[in-house]
Amino acid sequence: MKIPLNIWLFLLMKKSYKKEIMKGKILVTGGTGYIGSHTVVELQNSGYEVLIIDNLSNSGADIVDNIEKITGIRPEFEKLDCLDYEGLERFFQKHEDIKAIIHFAASKAVGESVEKPLLYYRNNLVSLINLLELMPKYHIEGIVFSSSCTVYGQPDQLPVTEQAPIKKAESPYGNTKQINEEIIQDTVKSGAPIKSILLRYFNPIGAHPSAHIGELPIGVPQNLVPYITQTAMGIREKLSVFGDDYNTPDGSAIRDFINVVDLAKAHVVSIDRMLSNKQKEQVEVFNIGTGKGLSVLELITAFEKATGVKLNYEITNRRAGDIEQVWADPEYANKELGWKAETSIEDTLRSAWNWQKKLREKGIQ
Ligand code: NAD
Repeated sequence: MKIPLNIWLFLLMKKSYKKEIMKGKILVTGGTGYIGSHTVVELQNSGYEVLIIDNLSNSGADIVDNIEKITGIRPEFEKLDCLDYEGLERFFQKHEDIKAIIHFAASKAVGESVEKPLLYYRNNLVSLINLLELMPKYHIEGIVFSSSCTVYGQPDQLPVTEQAPIKKAESPYGNTKQINEEIIQDTVKSGAPIKSILLRYFNPIGAHPSAHIGELPIGVPQNLVPYITQTAMGIREKLSVFGDDYNTPDGSAIRDFINVVDLAKAHVVSIDRMLSNKQKEQVEVFNIGTGKGLSVLELITAFEKATGVKLNYEITNRRAGDIEQVWADPEYANKELGWKAETSIEDTLRSAWNWQKKLREKGIQ
């Protein structure tokens, strides 16, 4: 079939227009997961073209539809395991102009990692090694890595800065984050032509305000906020507050709860910084938190106030492996990245509740 000249011209213009508005191609591993999906939305909103790979071990392909509902742009998605070196190589051959990677793909359940350490070490370490090995060959400039405040353990000083010493990990999961940071540092030190930004997240919570994407725990939630919303929905009978005898004002543990959309935006500014050569060092580390510590009991009260729903909870014994209190000093990220957590805790908890209600509407939970 012959294509008329005006159609050719239209297609050509569309292609060059697309190139003009797009800031570059970013690969998001684990992009259908909780933090990944929110980051894909913010990258697209900021003008990046996004490719997602995910093995769907902890998420569903329908998330791609939900991302499209929010942004109007469908990210390219391939079901691919980061452990599959040949599959990754084929992927990079197909998409030669990827500028940077944001690497979320990992197993993340602390308790499960104690039972299945080798699964965690293999998945979380080999996935990263595969990417680092392939990046120079395909001229990928840098990698933003999902690290965690677990690397600080119970810090000696609060708020905790990026200079605080790394403490021995409490679980194989936590250990994979520490080792991954070291693998990146050593690889860059060896002269590999790549840059990296390590983001140490505090406690991500909440959902997108559209309620199209959010956290979807499989089975009994390991994290506090999904447990709260499931209890409020009547899926769980009672919320357990693990310990009220900590050395904190109300006796419950204190965390730095960071809104997931704010967290997603930290990835966008990190990519901007990396691709515009503004990094001061080839590997940079940032705390991504609010700078405010909130106790578990304060969080429960904030949830009740924000949603008008009363929570059924009881105080139980401390949980093994939990630390007493941690919150971030985010000043370095505020200053260097020009990023700051903005969303109030009430809005964040309301977004989590709206997401839970949406799951109920859809008959999922
Ligand atoms: P998530 O489980 O929702 O997302 C991870 C995604 O990676 C899932 O979609 C899963 O299917 C995919 N995946 C896992 N192994 C894979 C593999 N080998 N190949 C391809 N895809 C794979 O988790 P999340 O909460 O969005 O966490 C994202 C990242 O942030 C993880 O690295 C996690 O360790 C880190 N992190 C999370 C938290 C938190 O509280 N959620 C805190 C600190 C750090």
